[in-house]
Amino acid sequence: MNSGVGQRIQEIIKTLPSEVKLVAVSKFHSIDKILSAYQVGQRIFGESKEQELSKKVELLPKDIEWHYIGHLQTNKVKFIAPYISMIEAVDSVKLLNEINKQAAKCNRTIDVLLELHIAEEDSKYGFKLDECRQFLLSGAWQQLTHIRIRGLMMMASYVEDEKQIEREMMMASDFFDELKSTIFAETDCFNQRSWGMSDDYHIAIKCNSTLVRIGSAIFGERS
Ligand SMILES: *Cc1c(COP(=O)(O)O)cnc(C)c1O
Repeated sequence: MNSGVGQRIQEIIKTLPSEVKLVAVSKFHSIDKILSAYQVGQRIFGESKEQELSKKVELLPKDIEWHYIGHLQTNKVKFIAPYISMIEAVDSVKLLNEINKQAAKCNRTIDVLLELHIAEEDSKYGFKLDECRQFLLSGAWQQLTHIRIRGLMMMASYVEDEKQIEREMMMASDFFDELKSTIFAETDCFNQRSWGMSDDYHIAIKCNSTLVRIGSAIFGERS
């Protein structure tokens, strides 16, 4: 039943450049399927609902690195702060402050990515480029000693036009380079670019992605 999962992971990994890591997006998928992925060596998994994630964390091996990839409400941060490896979709300063506060309570430093809003759709969360630039230039984040800003995350528009997807991803990549050569020039750990999903990761790897978040191409359609 789940035998395809491990095989599909191995096939996807073969197509990824060695510096690109796979986040297996397991939201809505069963413990069994996640274990099938784990058995072929997959260790990074992505989830987007706090309750579902907390339940899975309890039941699954402790060496899994969990990435929170969805929109996170500030009142949910405290539940995931003890164990989350990376919060990928930080889309407001308020959320960043709350992650810092809850990480401090757990005596941890939590890795985060800032989510950019580049896609044309209104429904997408994230910082506008200039908003993000201004916030980082303000330096306020340097007081947040329990978070580490590891890089940027974005979702491209959900369209057929591959040129548009590529344009959007390159905009994120260029913005990363701008930050890397200025604000984060001395910050080695600012080195992650999370873009690319099942339908567009082949484009994302041409646009300098370092983390691809792939769900349905591994686990099948979500019910
Ligand atoms: C669900 C989800 C994915 C994975 O989508 P697929 O199309 O199933 O690969 C990636 N990123 C985010 C933010 C998601 O919510």
